[in-house]
Amino acid sequence: MKKKSIAETRTLSGCWGKTKILFISESNLDIRIRNYNAKDFEDVYEIYSKSFAEEPWNEYMKCGLCGVNYGIYESRTVKQSCKKCNGPLRLERYWSRKDVYDDIEYAIAIDWRKILVAEINGKLAGFTWGYRMDKEKFNFLSESEIFSKEGEIMYVDEVATSPDCRNMGIATMLETVLLSEARNSGFSYAVLRTDEKNKSAISVYEKLGFRKMKANNGELKDPEFNSRIYMAKPLVRYG
Ligand SMILES: [Zn+2]
Repeated sequence: MKKKSIAETRTLSGCWGKTKILFISESNLDIRIRNYNAKDFEDVYEIYSKSFAEEPWNEYMKCGLCGVNYGIYESRTVKQSCKKCNGPLRLERYWSRKDVYDDIEYAIAIDWRKILVAEINGKLAGFTWGYRMDKEKFNFLSESEIFSKEGEIMYVDEVATSPDCRNMGIATMLETVLLSEARNSGFSYAVLRTDEKNKSAISVYEKLGFRKMKANNGELKDPEFNSRIYMAKPLVRYG
């Protein structure tokens, strides 16, 4: 029997816009996108801390004194003193459970938010969340033309997949459901932030219809982190 690919299965399901919980089954893979619940926290934490430990974020460990980040490779080859503060080096996990818990709680406290997880055969494979964007918090984006337009923006805060579930289209599935939820709730745009070095993520977002945000006078830069870029996608309602 011919094994169906995930992509084929995805097109066959064809009901992204209407389902809140989504099943895609085939002979040996059951992929499900569903709402997050508190029991998912440990799995989300594992994926969260593993994903951001990789390039380009390198948020694996941090200096206990100044908080500067150390990547996986760097952590194994470190010297006795910190690369930034020069203090005696005591590394701790970059993302603590409390950090991730607070990040999720921040989203939960917003009046419109959607927190989704992806499961493959019952095992958590990825997550994403987005919420109503507080335009004032992103003042530096106000030069972009979409900020001057009427309408609400959904901010895609996090998306990550487990390192062993890459290149299976999980992030695309998560975002497709998230974007359709936002569209159904009347949002005009979705905006997300990534790093210009994160080519594979950028390519996923471009395929989903996101484009780099530009200011009237050209480049739009995050005042704090120069390599961060912002991407936007209009959420047009069909029928
Ligand atoms: Zn330090």
